[in-house]
Amino acid sequence: MTKRDISIAFEELVYDELPADERALADMAMEATERSYAPYSRFRVGAAIALDNGVLVPGSNQENVAYPSGTCAERSACFYAHARYPEAKFVKIAVAARGTDGEFTTEPTAPCGACRQALLEYEVLAGHDVPLLLVGRDTIYRLPSVRSTLPFAFSEF
Ligand SMILES: [Zn+2]
Repeated sequence: MTKRDISIAFEELVYDELPADERALADMAMEATERSYAPYSRFRVGAAIALDNGVLVPGSNQENVAYPSGTCAERSACFYAHARYPEAKFVKIAVAARGTDGEFTTEPTAPCGACRQALLEYEVLAGHDVPLLLVGRDTIYRLPSVRSTLPFAFSEF
């Protein structure tokens, strides 16, 4: 038997430490929470994806009374991004959320498992790591790649 270990190195920082391009992406994710449709969970999530064509694509969670019919902010953003700009590669992704009190969460919110799998598809297509900024009001996590959030990912590539 061989014991193995998986660990993830990531950075923890605050908003003022972000470079201008990441600040713009974080701002877009935070702003996208305002267009969330979350009457059931009241947990409003925003995402933003930077593409290599210079476009920033926002997304927000869109719920449905039949719960599984809705989708998360990350998937609404990545599906729209690839539907609208199929040739563009993903460069970076930001996610932010407001809790049921309407305020931004103090700590970062991580994508759910389904979104990690969906985002991984576009990281593979990009051919390079796509960093994730998980934006909390007090703390931001900068993860090196989508794959780092999904050990043992299912992938054909
Ligand atoms: Zn999700």
